[in-house]
Amino acid sequence: MNRLREIDIQYVKGIGPQRAKLIAKELDIHTAYDLLCHYPRNYVDRSRTYRIADFSGEMPSVQVRGRFLTFTTHGEGAKKRLVGLFTDGTHRMEILWFKGIQGISKAFSTGTEYIVFGKPSFFAATNAWSMVHPEVDVVGSAGSTEGLRGVYPLTETLRNRGISSRTIHTWIVNLLAAHPNITETLPPFIISELNFPPLRQALIDVHTPRSADSLRKARERLKFEELLYIQTDILRTTRRRKTASQGLVFSRVGTFFNRFYNECLPFSLTDAQKRVIREVREDVRSGHQMNRLVQGDVGSGKTLVALMCMLLAIDNGAQACLMAPTEILATQHYETLRGMAAQIGIDVRLLTGSTRTAERRSIHRGLMDGSIQLLVGTHALVEDTVQFRNLGIAVIDEQHRFGVAQRGRLWGKNNPAPHILIMTATPIPRTLAMTVYGDLDVSVIDQLPPGRKPVETILRYEENRLDVYKALGRQLRQGRQAYIVYPLIEENEKLDLKSLEEGYETIRETFPDYKVAFVHGRMKPETKDYQMELFATGKAQILVATTVIEVGVNVPNATVMIIENAERFGLSQLHQLRGRVGRGAEKSHCILMSRHQIGRDTRQRLELMTNTPDGFIIAEADMRMRGPGDMEGTRQSGIAFSLRIASLATDGRIIQLARHYAELILDADPLLKHPDNAVFARSLALTVNHNVDWSKIS
Ligand code: ADP
Ligand code: MG
Repeated sequence: MNRLREIDIQYVKGIGPQRAKLIAKELDIHTAYDLLCHYPRNYVDRSRTYRIADFSGEMPSVQVRGRFLTFTTHGEGAKKRLVGLFTDGTHRMEILWFKGIQGISKAFSTGTEYIVFGKPSFFAATNAWSMVHPEVDVVGSAGSTEGLRGVYPLTETLRNRGISSRTIHTWIVNLLAAHPNITETLPPFIISELNFPPLRQALIDVHTPRSADSLRKARERLKFEELLYIQTDILRTTRRRKTASQGLVFSRVGTFFNRFYNECLPFSLTDAQKRVIREVREDVRSGHQMNRLVQGDVGSGKTLVALMCMLLAIDNGAQACLMAPTEILATQHYETLRGMAAQIGIDVRLLTGSTRTAERRSIHRGLMDGSIQLLVGTHALVEDTVQFRNLGIAVIDEQHRFGVAQRGRLWGKNNPAPHILIMTATPIPRTLAMTVYGDLDVSVIDQLPPGRKPVETILRYEENRLDVYKALGRQLRQGRQAYIVYPLIEENEKLDLKSLEEGYETIRETFPDYKVAFVHGRMKPETKDYQMELFATGKAQILVATTVIEVGVNVPNATVMIIENAERFGLSQLHQLRGRVGRGAEKSHCILMSRHQIGRDTRQRLELMTNTPDGFIIAEADMRMRGPGDMEGTRQSGIAFSLRIASLATDGRIIQLARHYAELILDADPLLKHPDNAVFARSLALTVNHNVDWSKIS
């Protein structure tokens, strides 16, 4: 297989230098190998032949067998078209061509029996069925093969240059015929254990399937192989790091942890919280540096987990820090943690960009002499002037706002590097996390504390606006606060800003008795912080904002979240926004305001929000609807785009299988030096490294 990577596409039979250039540009196919990996996007079933009498409503592409009765041309210039009247013996339909008319009228004749393959549509005006530019083959010719036929991804340019799905198929068939031996790339034990077809057979079956069953087996094997490279690469990186990086050993659970757990906790931990704390305890006494990601829905109690893990470090004579993405969040964490830690006599300090010089100096000193045990802050924490005496654990809240570089700088704050715990409220499906987070171990808090009232979510339209405002008024009169969120999307920036500002004015006019804070991403940070502060402290009752408030802000008194143009938000984003309310004792409401004319997919998306409070269900659905390439955290990695046949969204089972075999391979042969793995190791080197840069994934 790897030899095929060295064959320039122009030497494949039927291609030549001109077309090679075109294909390289349009499809990024440069070598014979690339061409073989250009898999069909889907398949059409040509095992059934339809009769025109059976055509109905919405049909996929189908094939019909019959003869042309006449060919006539109509119209002039751009409107010129060729119409072939086609019959299957009992009924008739029109076949239409708008391009290449001359060639077509020469190529086909009346009387010959053909199979035409295309999508039927019904024209009320002529009261007749028709097909536009179908595939037409003489019965019995090579092209008329029955059974499953692959449909290849193409571009408009290629189509206009006369390169069709069929053309590509023919090249691939030629290529496979010219290479009767293709070296197997998977280790032999996998082929036999999983009962996979050999590589060449799998390629033949995926491009020219003999049956649905052989196609399924071939696709399974090719997907597996693709995912195996990725999982092996990830696992190898992780293991290398683990063996190379010594970790501080926290063997004791000491008085801070125990006293806090036994005397200060106002409630019992959820099982999920306990499990995650246990996983962290295993990590920090293993002797290796921990790099763990904790996924937990909004409100699942991540802060407490963070604190307990930091207490483990402090119990073992080390310092701890917690880093948040914004000043407001850092301040909130500081207040929460100080409140809890004070009870057991731990000194907590806050360091942000706006910390005064004198305080800053005092913090620097306290960190150096070890008297400060717990530091909370923004990215100000990673500055070089901040030095710890003995930093044992760093917690990062809402990780996707931090770059990998900043994570790296935290590592440098101690030798050996501190343990790292990353918290995210953007849950992604486990198999996806396993892949896109690369070398992080993943924990999940999949349970909310008991008694949490789900946020009541409803979908409303413009004509309901007055009612919505009335309901909002009732909440405000009861002393509650409300968020009103507008989309702000780059392409439409001016327009969006206008509707945001108009919304702000409307709200001020509608609720003259209340103070309205106003925040958007284009504001100076000081202004933004000031406005947020107004709302967080309760001085303002309403906050009109863009999604800048998405992450982490905690105002338990806020019980209303109105999302304007909800149809323009992704599911995960809506869920994040909704998580800003329902944080206090009172029942909360989330109102999705939408345009009336929305497509079916959009309506489904919004209705899902009204039906489930579960972030993981929403994340799964989001991924299925949008594809994993759009998910938080996967965007930078490029991994979703590097896949040619597998899908991170739907191939979870195969991802797990691949992970398992990656472990088996590396357990037995960590450096991939065994002769049985030689071809696999070579393919791995050629496949993975230039596609995905793991260091870009955070
Ligand atoms: P998030 O995971 O969104 O960061 P927080 O850590 O802010 O969630 O917790 C949300 C709220 O739930 C806080 O008020 C916290 O005190 C409370 N909480 C956390 N764990 C529990 C628990 N086991 N039982 C009851 N309440 C809890
Ligand atoms: Mg939080």
